[in-house]
Amino acid sequence: MRASLPTLVVLYMLVFLALVFTVWIFYEMIRSLTERRFLNGKCRCAICGLIYPGSNGAQPARCPRCGTLNENQKIQLF
Ligand SMILES: [Zn+2]
Repeated sequence: MRASLPTLVVLYMLVFLALVFTVWIFYEMIRSLTERRFLNGKCRCAICGLIYPGSNGAQPARCPRCGTLNENQKIQLF
């Protein structure tokens, strides 16, 4: 049995989309892990975006550039 041309085109597109989707998911997982490791124990300023070492404990850490108090280790990755 031979498949018709439209069937082959649809099949090709589905395989291509599945491949792109898989690569995208792997890329996002690796990026998220790398960013998490990099930001571990650090603060990102909500005002100026500077990344600096956070304070120990639950106290908010003051940004060395603009002086804003930022929550320690509460970094939104997504
Ligand atoms: Zn700042």
